[in-house]
Amino acid sequence: MPSSIAHLLSKLNLEHITHSDIQPFFEVLHKETRVQITHEGSSFEGRSIKRISYGHGPIVILAWTQMHGNEATATASVFDLLDTLLQSSDKRLNNAQTLFTVHIVPMLNPDGAQRCIRHNAQGIDINRDAMAKQTPEGNILMHLVDTLQPNVAFNLHDQSPYYQCGTTGNPSTIAFLAPAFDIEKSVDDSRQLAMALIGRMTEAIYPHIEACVARYDDTFSPRSFGDRIAGKGAATILIESGAARGDPNRQIARSMNVIAILEAMSMLQDRHHQKISQAAFDKYQQQYWKIPENICETLSSLLIRGLHFSGVHSYQASISIKQTSRYSRQFYIDTVGDLHVQAGLVDYDASELTYDTGKTHTLNAPTIITNESYKQWLKQGVIQFQGETHHLSNQSDYQVMLNQPVGANSQALVLQQPAYFLMRKGKAIVAAVINGALIEID
Ligand SMILES: [Zn+2]
Repeated sequence: MPSSIAHLLSKLNLEHITHSDIQPFFEVLHKETRVQITHEGSSFEGRSIKRISYGHGPIVILAWTQMHGNEATATASVFDLLDTLLQSSDKRLNNAQTLFTVHIVPMLNPDGAQRCIRHNAQGIDINRDAMAKQTPEGNILMHLVDTLQPNVAFNLHDQSPYYQCGTTGNPSTIAFLAPAFDIEKSVDDSRQLAMALIGRMTEAIYPHIEACVARYDDTFSPRSFGDRIAGKGAATILIESGAARGDPNRQIARSMNVIAILEAMSMLQDRHHQKISQAAFDKYQQQYWKIPENICETLSSLLIRGLHFSGVHSYQASISIKQTSRYSRQFYIDTVGDLHVQAGLVDYDASELTYDTGKTHTLNAPTIITNESYKQWLKQGVIQFQGETHHLSNQSDYQVMLNQPVGANSQALVLQQPAYFLMRKGKAIVAAVINGALIEID
């Protein structure tokens, strides 16, 4: 039987989630007898921060999401998780409500979510406030940890789309960390458990995204909550949701979070019933160290490989193109040169193509641009238009450049500038980069 929130879940297939997006869940859950909703306090600007609790068992789990306001993926995941628990649809978990007490705080930073920014309304990064404790949101979290004393804590974030999984050329769709609680990166029983749980979780998600699971850097970060909470004896697990190719709303990471957390619960259940041998536990723990590292900033939105530049100094170079920020619609030229250690979410071999700045067309009459007509313009070498704004009606999926300075340098690209150029094979234009979008023409 579907749970009372099942019909709401598809509404969280969003690029970003705000406080108002999750209120319908609370309205429904208030009537659900198997969960308890507690108002834990308010954000700096007075938005409510609530805890949902399910079950009354001895294994206490605390999960919180979106302490960085612009990292919303796992907020959807925790409602998916709750739906699974309410439906009892994971058959491995027998009587989950008698074995577990699961506390969920979806969206710890609603003010940041409102603005789609990392920080809270004080401009403070809540995840650097674990020692100073000057944010209402950070205080709520620390109070929950101290009073609930979770056995396992899930700290759920999103990461930059430009993390690469090792050197696989793939994005890190999920990255895990069992955070260190001291500078020596000591491993106590709780951290061992966190590592083993992560090892087991990777087994569950590898069939779906094997080469896209990475291990986050474990440098001790004393101001961060994960590291502080690990020091309080909870097996603490950071999960970073990341990009996947062709998945702008991170729905793959959304579902991987759920699979991973359910797998962790399954292992905790087995462990509770002493069904996991020491050898198996050790194997899972070793598995943690075998996860490829999460490599920062070696991925880009679009990588053009080996493009030729003609002229007095002809040369060949690759080009990485990135978004100015995750939610922006603006792309820029990030790096030019030998980028063979890099990869692109879109990766394009241009080794037989030559760079072309394109030309400007002056509009004298109303012109409608569709996807098809735009390709025709590009094919003729036109990359931008000039003239009166009302003459141009853009009905295509692409951003069309109008009245922009372009082609100042016909032989080279300029770093940090918007990404618009053409690529030709011989004299024929065969592809274009239009604000980060690759358009192949015939
Ligand atoms: Zn974060």
